[in-house]
Amino acid sequence: MDVAHCGISNPERDSQRVLVKRFQLSLDIEKSHLENEPGIPILRMQSWFDFFLKNSCLHILHGLRQRHDVREKAIMAAFWRNFREVCPNHEIFQRETDGLLCLERCIPLQIHGDEGRGRRHTAHFVLSMHSPLGFGFGKQTGKKRTWTKMECNFSGHTFTNRFLLATLRKKDYSDQNSSKWDCFMTEVARDARFMWETGVASPDGVRYWGVVIGIIGDWPFLHKSGVFTRSFNSIQKRLNVKKAPSGICHLCRAAQSGIEFEQLATRRPDWLATEFTESAFATPNPFAYHLLQEPGKAEALWCFDWFHTMHLGVCKQYLGSVLALFSEQEPEGTIDERFAALSVKFRNWCHQHSRRGYVSKISKEMIGWDKTSLFPCGTWHKGDLSTVLMEFCEHRFQHETFHDEPLLQLAAEACEAIQACSRFLYRSSLWLQPEQCRVTGELAFKFLRRYSEMASRAKCTGRNLFVLQPKIHCLHHFAVSLFSAYKRNVVEMNPLGKSCQPSEDFIGRPARLARRVTAQRPVLASYHG
Ligand SMILES: [Zn+2]
Repeated sequence: MDVAHCGISNPERDSQRVLVKRFQLSLDIEKSHLENEPGIPILRMQSWFDFFLKNSCLHILHGLRQRHDVREKAIMAAFWRNFREVCPNHEIFQRETDGLLCLERCIPLQIHGDEGRGRRHTAHFVLSMHSPLGFGFGKQTGKKRTWTKMECNFSGHTFTNRFLLATLRKKDYSDQNSSKWDCFMTEVARDARFMWETGVASPDGVRYWGVVIGIIGDWPFLHKSGVFTRSFNSIQKRLNVKKAPSGICHLCRAAQSGIEFEQLATRRPDWLATEFTESAFATPNPFAYHLLQEPGKAEALWCFDWFHTMHLGVCKQYLGSVLALFSEQEPEGTIDERFAALSVKFRNWCHQHSRRGYVSKISKEMIGWDKTSLFPCGTWHKGDLSTVLMEFCEHRFQHETFHDEPLLQLAAEACEAIQACSRFLYRSSLWLQPEQCRVTGELAFKFLRRYSEMASRAKCTGRNLFVLQPKIHCLHHFAVSLFSAYKRNVVEMNPLGKSCQPSEDFIGRPARLARRVTAQRPVLASYHG
């Protein structure tokens, strides 16, 4: 009622009066400001931890619904035991040996950064933190409940499991203000250092630490926050260039001279021996300086993300070619008529299987295939559309055979493998046991082998299909890591444990708010009161 009476001329101010001042609906978290930049408010990790401890809600970061001191300690001990198998030389274990922290009270954290669309559709950057531990993927039945359960952090409202650190408007960090961006990154890195070095004490004097184990986001954010010399956008596009190619990956030297990233059909690609052999940092990096890490592997703090790699990457490349090939299977005359026939099939399938289609039709424009001389590739930005189209293809491959098109036969095998892999991951817990690593690693490798085969067969016959772009290299990294864990007989973190998928929802919220409020200041003020 009171909210309904708020005017629309300055809704931010008016709703603040009602929600924050009258009903006290804001969280009591200390607001700080960027050093030397009083216009940019931030919520420090230490302030969040103060809040968690004062209000007895640190259990959320343990993936628990209720506080339970003994169980919380057991979960953290189990987490770090597994983490030690993945990163045996991580500096946190030396700190523990030196008696400087207690692993049972060390909370692992991840930092997520991404741009949303803010006011007048300008970019609006949102940085948040979360724990890798949460309530799994929802809708799961029959899973054994264990004392030290560790599930991925997907389920639940993102306001309850993603914690805002700061937001920046484009003008705060675009070119002329790039020093502000550097200050901002340094400040966050320092805050993260405080969390592992000093930690935060509860009101009754028990100390807790926070350890940032990974930085996640889309590839542009990894590139921007890492300031890497090697990234996706440094791919060599022309055949004859004078400068040696710098490489596409901050973890290895793939795509440098003589080290192909396209070598997909093997478990032992040449790039494997080049991991962490050449620094990827263009400038000294505050995170590499302030965060605990595995010595010599600072680049590993920046993690590839399954969601961007697959839903917004490899799947779009795969689907582009498969939909193009499907359209050619239609008997109708013109290319548009064939796509219209394919669209009917898609709509019918959505209807029969109660799936939301997201698009009214499948067109050649949707896969960027205006001319057959172009490589088709999905042009959409919605991960869910990739998911539903993959299911559509999977269903067709299960019920139809394409004898006259060998590429579609290979595509069917590729589809089956990657769908099985993905489903397996979305049903698993945070840690994959060695056998689970073998299964998922093998499936990912199978997809890569088929994709590679399709790309080379298409090339041999002069058809521009199954494009090879850098994102498939990220999938190769996932496959290699999973398989290596199996070989070493150790656990590995589920790739979805480092996924941005839920955080994407989170960044959408303050960005949407920024579109709707009138005040010309960073959104944090209106967001947390
Ligand atoms: Zn690499």
